[in-house]
Amino acid sequence: MSDLIISTPYGLYCEPADIFLDPWQSVPKAIITHAHSDHARRGCGSYLCHHHAKPLLKARLGDINVQSVEYNEKIIINGVTISLHPAGHIPGSAQIRIEYQGKVWVFSGDYKLHHDGISTNFELTPCHVFISESTFGLPFFQWPPPDQVFQEIQRWWMKNKSEGVSSILFAYSLGKAQRLLAHLQISDSPVFVHGAVHTMNEACKAAGIKLPETLRVSEVYDNRLFKGALVIAPSSANGTPWLRRFGPYRTAIVSGWMALRGARRWQAADRGFVLSDHADWNALNAVVKGTGAGKVFVTHGYTETFSRWLCENGIPAAVLHSQYTGEQTTETETAEES
Ligand SMILES: [Zn+2]
Repeated sequence: MSDLIISTPYGLYCEPADIFLDPWQSVPKAIITHAHSDHARRGCGSYLCHHHAKPLLKARLGDINVQSVEYNEKIIINGVTISLHPAGHIPGSAQIRIEYQGKVWVFSGDYKLHHDGISTNFELTPCHVFISESTFGLPFFQWPPPDQVFQEIQRWWMKNKSEGVSSILFAYSLGKAQRLLAHLQISDSPVFVHGAVHTMNEACKAAGIKLPETLRVSEVYDNRLFKGALVIAPSSANGTPWLRRFGPYRTAIVSGWMALRGARRWQAADRGFVLSDHADWNALNAVVKGTGAGKVFVTHGYTETFSRWLCENGIPAAVLHSQYTGEQTTETETAEES
């Protein structure tokens, strides 16, 4: 039997169902794992995603033709059974399971194992062939416990607050920003957000995700309100005139890349907090092993290293070309929206 999912110039493609998975070009029919910009592109004829991803996709892509389904709900196209399974990456994120003629392939999209309080927890999905991300596919990447990181962030903010200094956290506008809001103790202090974060907060609320109230920076007319406050913004706002409003402030980047020595300095921030919505090295290995897959393809990240490691450890693996980028230090698409 030929491969059930192949890489084409338009994106990953399932030929028997004639449908693309997270395509990077405009195609007639797309299934989308999640609403991050490297997985959800404009211009497709129709989109299929999880219910929670639908308002997020609409917020990012505008008025699109999108159908949504529940996790584990089966859709049959040309005799191919397709279902979505929680990926734990961001709200509405899914792995795509495709079953055809007795063979099961799973495309992971992006995933993580830590419970983040806003996404449905990752579900291990047994398969014959697993297509995995490997954004942090080096043994070096081992995440600290997220609760410890939230406490560090809280302490940093409280110290800044006691000195009358604003705390500006740079984080992905979709996923990371809401994860921070869900975990930080913000009851007695207002939290301000950049417009890009505000848009994604509203879309998450439309998906039924509970988030604390925040204030949009552009709707505040008295800059004194920012004194000692917490502000959440995409990293594209770092180093821009947008920061001038906040008076004395300190900045921090929240990203898995902050585990790298020097990463904080390259990005010119005062602090770096190691928190990722991607699997670390141990989680990648646990998931690949747990699927029981006899063959693994690796789409993005440290693809060569991770696939070589799997081969050396008895799991046949290869790189599958894609244009996904995984977690980046800068989110470029949100720069204009303040
Ligand atoms: Zn993602």
